Amino acid sequence: MSVNTFQKWAFIALHEVGCHGFYKTYKNLLKNQYKTYEELKKEQERKLQEIINFAYRNVPYYHSLFKTLQLHPSDIKNIENLEKLPIITKDIIKEHWEDFKPINLREIKYYNRATGGSTGRPFQYRLDKFNRFLSWALIYRGWGYAGYELGDPMIFFGGASLRIVNGQSISQKIQDVLRNIRRISSFDISEKNLNRYMMEINSFKPKYIYGYASSLYFLSNWIEKNWDKDVHSPIGIFTTAEKLYPYMRKKIENVFDTEVFDNYGLNDGGVSAYECKEHQGLHIDMERAVMEIADKEGHQIENGEGKIIATSLYNYSLPFIRYDTGDIGIITSEKCGCGRPYKLLKEIKGREQEMLITPEGKFIHGEYFTHIFWEIPYVKEFQIVQEKIDKIVIKIVPDENFDEKYLNKIKEIIRMRSKSWNIEFKIVDKINRTKAGKYKFVINEVINK
Ligand SMILES: [Zn+2]
Repeated sequence: MSVNTFQKWAFIALHEVGCHGFYKTYKNLLKNQYKTYEELKKEQERKLQEIINFAYRNVPYYHSLFKTLQLHPSDIKNIENLEKLPIITKDIIKEHWEDFKPINLREIKYYNRATGGSTGRPFQYRLDKFNRFLSWALIYRGWGYAGYELGDPMIFFGGASLRIVNGQSISQKIQDVLRNIRRISSFDISEKNLNRYMMEINSFKPKYIYGYASSLYFLSNWIEKNWDKDVHSPIGIFTTAEKLYPYMRKKIENVFDTEVFDNYGLNDGGVSAYECKEHQGLHIDMERAVMEIADKEGHQIENGEGKIIATSLYNYSLPFIRYDTGDIGIITSEKCGCGRPYKLLKEIKGREQEMLITPEGKFIHGEYFTHIFWEIPYVKEFQIVQEKIDKIVIKIVPDENFDEKYLNKIKEIIRMRSKSWNIEFKIVDKINRTKAGKYKFVINEVINK
């Protein structure tokens, strides 16, 4: 058995242990690329009817919503019919948390999850076990648009899957070996780390690198200025979780002498989209969720800019039906040259991150602070502003259960990254939006002055 074949089967075995049927699901997803849009839409609508029925029968919030609107599940037969339902937000789910709990929740296998979303506010939700594996199967297929095959060596350059406090567990390390991935942290980037990362990239020779757009851009700039040795060139680089600006793409592609493929995916709501080699936009997956692009009135649009609205087809533990992801997308009815049936998302807006710089000279990705607040309850909104190199101000909009003791916990976690920052807390009534009406949760006034 060649090394590649071994890696592939180790990879598949690991996923099968986690979720039986994974490989079959993945292979079916590959086949779907050759179906027509209409065929896929029919299958999607069949799953849509199932989740609508389930929500109506088992989830109190949806049951009363349908009653109030004088609707029956049979009124929602296709994607167009979704317009009959209102858009739900994170705040609505938070407010009616108990009513979003299915009466038969105990029979469902799920994980408790949290996300910062685009605004960085912590939002708790439930994710079905199968749904999580389906998300990975879709990621692997999406990477396949760039040539990726299961078990290919990869480097993950990001923070989302890295724990802040506990570090990596042993089982996580074993899983990473079986998946043939190495992780490097983008949470704190110092000169020393960057040198080490480059040596790791050059010796591991990943076929692909996956990471935050801003972190990869940052790394590319650093390489250009500071690295005089060779740079391993992967087949492709996948960017995710943030807006990828054209100047970022250009820089990363030049420095690594490769192609950049943008990815988009959310577990809350289950929508995802991946760029192919034609680089005409991101192909919107149809197998795990329905993605609508909606105007201000909630009407579906075929072309242009609107809210990204998600209806998850497999999340029974917390059905997301017409869920406002908080992201803005530009959809197009243009067809892609690759021939895949999936529609194209031209651009995703509203995912920006800033880095903070410590007095010790380390760069810390904004996402790090989102993660801190995942562990701090009773915070409605927050914002971190770096005013000076040695001073950061943390604004918090608390709810009535917030306790001052959490401030110390926040301090403690931040001190793990830098001991020299003076941290000032401000309890405020609201966080001001930018002129464009955007909520920024990390602002660096030192770099941006
Ligand atoms: Zn394409």
